[in-house]
Amino acid sequence: MKSETQKSVPFFDYKWLYREHGTNLSKIINGVMEKGAFILQGELKEFEEKLANYLNVKHAIGVGNCTDGLLLSLKSLNLQKGDEVLFPAHTFVATAAAIFHAGATPVPCEIGSDHLMDPKHLEDKITKKTKAIVPVQLNGRTANMQAIMEIAEKHDLIVVEDAAQALGSTYKGRMAGSFGVAAAFSFYPAKTLGCLGDGGAVVTNNDEIAEKVFLFRDHGRDKNGVINFWGMNSRLDNMQAAVLSYFLDHYNDTVKRRRELAAIYNKNLKGIESLVLPPYDSNEDHFDIFQNYEIEAKNRDNLKEFLGENGVGTLVQWGGKAVHQNEHLGLMSHHLPATERMVASSLLLPLNLSLADEDVTYVCDKIKEYYDAAAS
Ligand SMILES: *Cc1c(COP(=O)(O)O)cnc(C)c1O
Repeated sequence: MKSETQKSVPFFDYKWLYREHGTNLSKIINGVMEKGAFILQGELKEFEEKLANYLNVKHAIGVGNCTDGLLLSLKSLNLQKGDEVLFPAHTFVATAAAIFHAGATPVPCEIGSDHLMDPKHLEDKITKKTKAIVPVQLNGRTANMQAIMEIAEKHDLIVVEDAAQALGSTYKGRMAGSFGVAAAFSFYPAKTLGCLGDGGAVVTNNDEIAEKVFLFRDHGRDKNGVINFWGMNSRLDNMQAAVLSYFLDHYNDTVKRRRELAAIYNKNLKGIESLVLPPYDSNEDHFDIFQNYEIEAKNRDNLKEFLGENGVGTLVQWGGKAVHQNEHLGLMSHHLPATERMVASSLLLPLNLSLADEDVTYVCDKIKEYYDAAAS
């Protein structure tokens, strides 16, 4: 039966961008260079307006990266030392680091079967010191924001979204990033809207927060050069903004293709008992954009090795640890059994625009081959 020759399906092909878009990108970059327009110039403003329009929010502010975006959003809330901020433990350390550097205490919470913040466990973690919640819209899926916002309202907590992985994802027709008082997006190259280096944005409907973040990213300086408070330098490069405008113009196609690839995985992996597949649009409330295709796999490490031997790159996210399991961060006393169980079997399969349909079916065939052999 095994007639297929070995393919190479890298987890992420960073050089594809140049092969596919190099000519157009060179033109854009040359144009910016010719103008000498590098910092806080027209291309940045244009991208910010485009992004705000796309998300249907009032303000978008380009910043150095998403980690800074979260930090600046949280800083604008004037959190005090000892204030607790809840976040789902299945996330990049950046979520918690932003809370920490904003001067508050990060408190990790459980995830549900959708791998996102579990509203059912959230209330258990609320104390008198809790001030805010940072849900993470992971893998291109938006959390159950109705339940989370209801809990936030009931306990008078502020919500800031980590939407690094979720540009264009919706819940009940509303865009990820438009639920909380503010949200941050990442334009890291491997994100669904990636630039040629680091980049990020804060979005908000709140004028006061927008003004603060806007000043904060440029040393607290206003247009008259007055330093309004202790700020920092976290500006989205004008060149990166020009590149992002170009990709944002094609973004609907990007999302469409990602969803097609995810559908091929779903179709081919359905029914394999050793796997739990991601909750693809599991009900009409969700529209997923598939930043990642995250499966739970029996014998995860062996499967990963087998796929590697067959030319398929996969990723164990966050080094295989939920945030609280990192021994040097002081969060080890938290026990989150559902999260810990999930990260032990979690595996990301390749899902990128560089993939052909056949690449995905090849990955699926290899996964089937692995579990068939294990069963016999
Ligand atoms: C990528 C990512 C970040 C950090 O984004 P940067 O732009 O690299 O700072 C934060 N949170 C999540 C969930 C991410 O995936």
